[in-house]
Amino acid sequence: MKIQTATLGYPRIGKNREVKKALEAFWNGKIGSQSLLQTVKEVEEANWKTQLDAGIDKIGIGDTTLYDHILDWTFRFGLIPERFQQFSGLERYFAMARGKEGISALEMTKWFDTNYHYLVPEITSGALRADWSDFIERVSRAQEILGKRAIPIVFGSCTLLRLSKLDLNVDTAISQLIPLYTDLLTELKSLGISEVQIHEPALVLGDGNNWKEHYQAVYKSLSGVEIPLNLVTYFDDLGETYSWVMDLPVNAISLDLTRGSNLELIKTYGFPEDKRLGVGIVDARNIWQICPEEVIPKLETIKDVVREFEVQPSASLQFVPYDATRETQLPEALRNVLSFAEQKLQEVVFLAQKITVCDAKYNHEPLVNFNRNNSQNQSKFDATKLTVTYYKKDQKTIETAWEKFRRFSPINQIVQQQLKSLTSKDFERNLSYDLRRSLQISLPVFPTTTIGSFPQTSDVRKLRVRYKRGEISQEDYQTAIKAQILECIRSQEEAGLDVLVHGEFERTDMVEYFGQQLQGFAFTQNGWVQSYGSRCVRPPIIYGDVIRTQAMTVDEFIYAQSLTEKPVKGMLTGPVTMINWSYTRTDISRQEQAFQIALALRDEVTDLEAAGAKIIQIDEPALREGLPLKTKRWNEYLSWAVDSFKLSAGIAKPGTQIHTHMCYSEFGDIITDIERLDADVLSIENSRSNNETLYELTDGGYSKQVGNGVYDVHSPAIPTTEQMLSQLRTGIANLPVKQIWVNPDCGLKTRRWEEVIPALKNMVEAAKKLREEA
Ligand code: GLN
Ligand code: ZN
Repeated sequence: MKIQTATLGYPRIGKNREVKKALEAFWNGKIGSQSLLQTVKEVEEANWKTQLDAGIDKIGIGDTTLYDHILDWTFRFGLIPERFQQFSGLERYFAMARGKEGISALEMTKWFDTNYHYLVPEITSGALRADWSDFIERVSRAQEILGKRAIPIVFGSCTLLRLSKLDLNVDTAISQLIPLYTDLLTELKSLGISEVQIHEPALVLGDGNNWKEHYQAVYKSLSGVEIPLNLVTYFDDLGETYSWVMDLPVNAISLDLTRGSNLELIKTYGFPEDKRLGVGIVDARNIWQICPEEVIPKLETIKDVVREFEVQPSASLQFVPYDATRETQLPEALRNVLSFAEQKLQEVVFLAQKITVCDAKYNHEPLVNFNRNNSQNQSKFDATKLTVTYYKKDQKTIETAWEKFRRFSPINQIVQQQLKSLTSKDFERNLSYDLRRSLQISLPVFPTTTIGSFPQTSDVRKLRVRYKRGEISQEDYQTAIKAQILECIRSQEEAGLDVLVHGEFERTDMVEYFGQQLQGFAFTQNGWVQSYGSRCVRPPIIYGDVIRTQAMTVDEFIYAQSLTEKPVKGMLTGPVTMINWSYTRTDISRQEQAFQIALALRDEVTDLEAAGAKIIQIDEPALREGLPLKTKRWNEYLSWAVDSFKLSAGIAKPGTQIHTHMCYSEFGDIITDIERLDADVLSIENSRSNNETLYELTDGGYSKQVGNGVYDVHSPAIPTTEQMLSQLRTGIANLPVKQIWVNPDCGLKTRRWEEVIPALKNMVEAAKKLREEA
C-alpha cells in the first residue's frame, strides 16, 4: 500500500506577511474587520492549495489565526476571564491578546522551546459559553476545496489545561471541557470528516506521568464519539509516558522523530498493532533539506516494526518560513540545501514515495497523470496517484545539492585546530573573582549604568534602511551614527550615570548585527516566521564554521570613549543567545557552534581591551530559554552553555570587569550555573517581578555583583525616585552594599528620549540617596 502523507499545520502569516500587514492596518483603523478576515481567508486558502499541489494526502486544517491559535481555542471554548466579558467579538479577542487601557492582556509566554509565544489561558470555574462556528466554517470550506484530505486540527484539552493558569482543580476543569470536546467532535463527524488531529504536545514535558489519569479519562470519553482521532505530539519524545499513551483509545499517534528518542522507544517497546503511527521525520523546526542517508534508514526501521504509518513534518511548519527558492540573494549552493515549508512538503512526499517504492511488492505501481480538477469531485479522488505525479524532489537532486554545499562551505581548518587545542584554562579567568575584584575599575557604591541600547528613533531606523539600500554612503552613515553616539554620551553624562554605553544605534538586532559581520552566518530576505501576533522575525542561519574577520564593535567603542572621562562599556552578544535565536547547523553539535562563536568573541574582547575598555558586557538574555523540555537534560545543556560563555570571557584580563545581562529570567533552579558563569556583574530584570528575581539570586547565596533592574523598560511611565528607592531598599536589604549596581531592567531601545532622560535622572537620584544612607 502506498504510504500516505500528512501535515500538522502551516505558516499562517502569508507569503508576503499579508496577515501581519492586515492586522496592523486593522489596529490602526485603516481597514475594517471584513477586509482583515478576507485576508486571513485568502492566505489560508493559498496555504491549502500549496499543500494540495505538493500532493499531501491529509492536510491539517484550522491552525490559521488572527493572533495565536491557543487564544483561538481559549476563545472558542468560552474561557473568557472576567475582565474581558464587557467586550464581544473581535474587540474581546484583541483585548485578550493585547490588552486595553487599564485592562491587562493575557500573559504571553514561550511555546515550549520554540521562539513562538502563545497567550496563557486563565481558567476559572463557571459555565462555558462555547462558540466554534468559525472553526466549523473553515472546516467546511476546506472540505469543499480539499475533499477528504481536510483533516481538522483540534487543540487537546490536557495540553490546554497544562499550559493554563488554573483557578480550579484539574478534574473540575476537565469535566467542564469534556462535553464541549464531545460536542465539537460530534459536529465534525456529522460533516463527514474522516479523521481529527488532536494536538497534545504537553505529553512530551517531563511531568506527563502526573497527567496519566486525565488523559485516560478524556480519551475514553472522546472515543465514544466514534470519529477517528490522531493524537499528535511533538518537540520531544514521549519518554516515560510512552507505554500508557500507546494504550489510549485513539486510531493514530503522531511522534516527533527529529528530537529526543522516540525511535528507540518504538524499537524497545514496539508500536500497537491497532494504531497508525504518524512519523514526524521532516524537521519542522529547522531549515535544512533532509539528508536521505540519515532519514531513509530510520523510515526503514519503522517499516520493520510498525504495521501502518504515515510520513509528515515533525510539527506544524509555522516555525519555518514559506519558500527557500525566493532567497535569490543567497549563494545558490546554500539556497539549494535550504528547505522552508514548501520544500518540506516536497520532502514529505518524496520520503513517502521512496519508502513505498523501496517495497518490492509495490514497485510496479503505475504513475497516473492526475487531473487536479478532479479533486473537487470526491468520488474520483485518488490521493495515491496525485502524490506520485506532483512530487518534485528526488534523491539525486538532494544529494547533488549537499555535495555542492560541502564544497561551498568547507570545514575551516584554523577553527578546527583552535577548538581542538582548547584546554580547561581557556574557560577560566586568570584570577578568581575575589582576587581580581581589587584590580578592576573602582566606582562609587551603588554604581549606576544602563543595559546598552538607547532609543531607536524612527530617524535612526530610517538611517540604517537608507544605508542598506545604498542611498547614503558609508561615510555619511558613520557620521550620522557618530552624531547619535555623541548625543547619547552627553545625555548619560547629564543624567549622572557612572558607567556609560554607546547606545547600539548601529544595531537592528543584537544577534543580526554580529551575525552579519561573522563568516558562517547567512540572512534571508523573506524568511519571516511568526514570533507572536503580528510580530515576525527573520532568524539568521548558521551554515558554516564561524570566523571573525575583523573587529565588530571597536570603532563605536573608541569613539564613545573618546567623548567622555567616564568609563564606557564594550557591548557584545553572547554565544548562547546567538545560537538560541538562530537556525543552527545539524552536521555539528550546538555546543561546537557555540564554542566557535565564543572563539570569535574572545578576539573581540581582546581588541576591546586593547582599545582601552575596562568593562565589557556579554549579553545572554536567551540562556534560560534554551533549556531542554525535560529537566533531566538540563545539565547537559547548561554545561556547554555556561562553558561557551566562559570561553568568550575567559580571555579577559583580571582587571577587566565582565558584565552579563539576562532579562526576564528565573534563576531559582539554575543558580549554581549562573554562579559558574563567573561574570563580575550580572544585571537582571527585577522591577516587574517585585524583587523576585533578586531574591532568587540572594537566597541562593549569589556571591558576585548584581545589577538590580529598578525600572520597567516596557512601560512608558517614568518611574519616580521614590519608587526606585523603595524597591532598592527592600531588594538589597540582605545584600552587602558592595554587591549592588543600579540599572534599568533591560535595554531602552523601544522607549522615547523624553521618557528615558527623566527616568534615568530619577534612577541616579535614587542611587545617590542610597549612598547617603550607606
Ligand atoms: N544590550 C542589549 C540592549 O540593551 C540587551 C538586550 C536584551 O537583553 N534583550 O538592547
Ligand atoms: Zn534584557
